Amino acid sequence: MDSGAPLTPELTVPVWKQVPQSVYIHIPFCTQRCGYCNFALIADRADLVEAYLKALGRELDWRLANESLPRLIKTMFLGGGTPTFLSLSQVDRLVDMLRRYFVWDANDPANEWSVEANPNDLTAAAVAHWSDLGVTRFSLGAQSFRVEKLELLERTHRACDIQRACELVLTHGRQLSLDLIFAVGDETTTQWEADLRKGLSCQAQHLSTYQLTYEKGTQFWNRLQRGVLREAEQDHALQLYQQTCELLSSQGFEHYEVSNFARPGYRSRHNCVYWTGRPYWAFGPGAAGYVNGQRYVNHSSTTTYIKRLQAQVSPVAEVDDDGDIMRAREYFVFGMRMLDGLDPITFRRETGIDWESLFGDQIRRDLQAECFCWEGDRLKLTAQGLYISDTLWPNYLA
Ligand code: SF4
Repeated sequence: MDSGAPLTPELTVPVWKQVPQSVYIHIPFCTQRCGYCNFALIADRADLVEAYLKALGRELDWRLANESLPRLIKTMFLGGGTPTFLSLSQVDRLVDMLRRYFVWDANDPANEWSVEANPNDLTAAAVAHWSDLGVTRFSLGAQSFRVEKLELLERTHRACDIQRACELVLTHGRQLSLDLIFAVGDETTTQWEADLRKGLSCQAQHLSTYQLTYEKGTQFWNRLQRGVLREAEQDHALQLYQQTCELLSSQGFEHYEVSNFARPGYRSRHNCVYWTGRPYWAFGPGAAGYVNGQRYVNHSSTTTYIKRLQAQVSPVAEVDDDGDIMRAREYFVFGMRMLDGLDPITFRRETGIDWESLFGDQIRRDLQAECFCWEGDRLKLTAQGLYISDTLWPNYLA
């Protein structure tokens, strides 16, 4: 039985009870589905965008019509899928719709509005249009600069498309983030280093690097089962990850979350909302939100999402309300994924719970195993802990 009793709850409002100041909009369209991708999306269905926008409007209305105004937003993230799949007039309608429900100050430098983009879609006109609307940050699904790797990943862009898109984003004074994938096929450390160095040469202020995973239900998973594809050895993948941490740190990037690196001042503010246990709204197929302590996730099928909203039925597939103790456990795990770590006083203030009563013994075991360390009053991952961090978290969620 869990012994984590709330401490003087009347003295603290848990962080998850705050009014959300962040919003995620899922745009579930792509030209084609890449073989490794299991995101909620529908490929090559431009004909569904209008119905999707109407459904999204209904979801916004259904969820927010009774909320008090104004809903002041500090961060907004348009993800996918591929938000830049929308035509510019569809983008205008989307943004008009969002402005009916949310207020954000595009001139406040503390605010962030990110859009995920496919390098092929970022024409000069598109970057200018999104920038004029108030987008502050473009996150490009670059994945690699090497043609064989891009082909294996079934990406349709090439290195020159990434470089051109990066130049446009920076010319418009927007922040630039690149996603890169490692451990693809028999990728060597030399090949991966070349990808990282090309990413650096694009002057991105933020880099997210992910190991290729083979998710059930994807084409890559099927090919793995048939022996057509081979997963990288875990030791080799770890070597590539270590190489990433060392190279990017040596180039002045802060390694601030397990998979994320930023020049000082350029961390993803929106993603930090997730990692610091703050609440956020989320809309669209498969979108997952966290409001008033409840995690909810919408139906991931775009057509089901549209049909339900057309029929005035809730798009939500699942709601979890696991109680304050599980919320505090999740707060710990997300927080410890950030390399700044956590301190017990803030943990107690923001969750209303003392972490000693939840997992004090487990923390001592991880300190003893040199996976965690104390730096001043903050508990942090060590380098050793970082490399096996995924194996640590189940002990804190059980
Ligand atoms: S472009 Fe991105 S979201 Fe779309 S299928 Fe490929 S990996 Fe998935």
